[in-house]
Amino acid sequence: MDSAVFTPQAQYTLPELEAKYPPRALPEGARVTRFGPSPTGFMHIGGLYTSLVSRRLAHQSGGVFFLRIEDTDKKREVDGTVDLILASLATYGLSPDEGEIADGKEVGAYGPYRQSERMPIYQSCVRWLLDQGHAYPCFATADELQALREEQTRRKVPPGYYGGWAIWRDKTEADVAAALAAGLPFTIRLRATGERDERVTLPDTIRGDLEFPANQTDVVLLKADGMPTYHLAHVVDDHFMRTTDVIRGNEWLASYPMHAQMFRLFGWAPPRFAHISPIEKQDGGSRRKLSKRHDPEASVGWYMEAGYPLGAVTEYLLNLIDGRFEDWRAANPAAPNTQFPIELERMSRSGALFDLVKLDSVSRDVVGAMSAKAIYDAALVWASGHDPEFAVRFAADAAYSQAILDIERHGERPRKDVVRWSQLPADIGYFFDNRYAELQDEAKAAWAALQPAPAAGLLSAVVEAYDPALDRDQWLEWLRDVGLRFGYAPNAKTFKAAPDQYIGHFGDLASALRVALAARRNTPDLHEMMQVLGKDRVVARLTAAIAW
Ligand code: GLU
Repeated sequence: MDSAVFTPQAQYTLPELEAKYPPRALPEGARVTRFGPSPTGFMHIGGLYTSLVSRRLAHQSGGVFFLRIEDTDKKREVDGTVDLILASLATYGLSPDEGEIADGKEVGAYGPYRQSERMPIYQSCVRWLLDQGHAYPCFATADELQALREEQTRRKVPPGYYGGWAIWRDKTEADVAAALAAGLPFTIRLRATGERDERVTLPDTIRGDLEFPANQTDVVLLKADGMPTYHLAHVVDDHFMRTTDVIRGNEWLASYPMHAQMFRLFGWAPPRFAHISPIEKQDGGSRRKLSKRHDPEASVGWYMEAGYPLGAVTEYLLNLIDGRFEDWRAANPAAPNTQFPIELERMSRSGALFDLVKLDSVSRDVVGAMSAKAIYDAALVWASGHDPEFAVRFAADAAYSQAILDIERHGERPRKDVVRWSQLPADIGYFFDNRYAELQDEAKAAWAALQPAPAAGLLSAVVEAYDPALDRDQWLEWLRDVGLRFGYAPNAKTFKAAPDQYIGHFGDLASALRVALAARRNTPDLHEMMQVLGKDRVVARLTAAIAW
């Protein structure tokens, strides 16, 4: 065919592209991996999972992890998705080394990293295929393709555009020229080379060797709008971006023979491939894929909204990647999880099972092992994005907020009640005076509901003599004495032994103080809470409550 009359135009020759995107100068064994999301409005937890695997493999081998935005399907594109992807990766510590970083800015020498901006590269490669006779233009209309499928169904032969069914595969130059002159829309198709009984082997890093029939389908490479299909873009990009390991969802397994054929026709060494099974969840008696439509936890946005800490999500996903992570963590309680070596060979072929109860338990441990300062910093980032009012309170006095977070974390059995940052406004809000003021109605209602009703004068007696310098034991002794004066037995046992001698016991007294100080009956350790509130706040709150 006369290439001059025919688009696509070649801006580059293949040797020019080879020179423009040379093999990377990386140490022996370094892996180059990538995450290639399509910006369709959603970031799936599976994308985070694949990114974690890919980024860790790159980094533990001294390689590179890059982000490529696969935005060639303009119909499915949703504005704002790239920002969502970048924010999701950043929140969970998976920002790429190369690719788009923010506001359309890119880093790296193998760009552009948005496929829609790589048209000259795809067109040049397709031009080369056309010139070699490995591709051809196809002017088949949607109706013709539909008729083809119907005829194939009728004749009970495999559906598709291949061999004798490929209408434009063997058209003459004159036919092509006439169609072009008539301005008919066209796609460019691969001239498949697979023979009838030919087989190809995929050495999948996770699954071992897999055999497929060689590709016989004349797959579309460039669509009528000039955009590449996934098949072309994957082969061209992963070659010229010098990817060593393509780690992708197993929905692409079936198209591997096409990709293998294209690498061969271009004369390029294919990368290694690892096909990951989708994350599944237990649903009644059976397992199914985590679904974007039915499972809120399929979306990374859900974890961000809930404020699951970076470490919790990372460690939970590491558990899914390799069941040995849990033992490793137990043996190395203080080691950063980046030291846990990822091996693709360890990943499940059948699909990891997702379990939110397990995630919460991992999260408790992760938060339990964080310093109050680290919790404060991470929770403040969450609050700034998701609960600005709380963020203002939380940030007003950093030392106070950190002291609150540090309550009951240093004894023999440290608290492990924090799972996600979004629980903090409700859990610790009352420590902040403006929030406490908002809780007055609740506080009064809780006060009125106390059984037994708090002894008159109790709060005044505490206000008069509260000494924050008392240690836990001294404070306990002092408060029991105060209680005894107002008819509270020092403990439940004493009370039960002689119920008519007391109005209640120490626990009842503590409940009254909790309601007055915190507007609720459940609080952390009363002594520590009073210490953190500080004398001024304790006195102010109890004094106000005397009037209830
Ligand atoms: N954009 C493709 C997808 O979202 C990427 C697949 C790949 O990693 O090659 O499925």
